Amino acid sequence: MISTDLLEILACPIGKAPLKLEDGKLVCTSCGAKYRIEDDIPIMLIEEAELPEGVSSPDELKCSADPLTET
Ligand SMILES: [Zn+2]
Repeated sequence: MISTDLLEILACPIGKAPLKLEDGKLVCTSCGAKYRIEDDIPIMLIEEAELPEGVSSPDELKCSADPLTET
């Protein structure tokens, strides 16, 4: 199980947005990319991420650590 301490220091590799734990995966709160956890180690690789529905390439993801800057 991923500790909350670890969860706090992890960020989405795309836009450094915070992550939340959902169904045993880390889900980006900004772009929605999902990162799986193997043997308690989160796989924080864009190439390995599970992309949200309708997104075929990580380049299409809009990820930002600060949602307020979105215009
Ligand atoms: Zn993201």
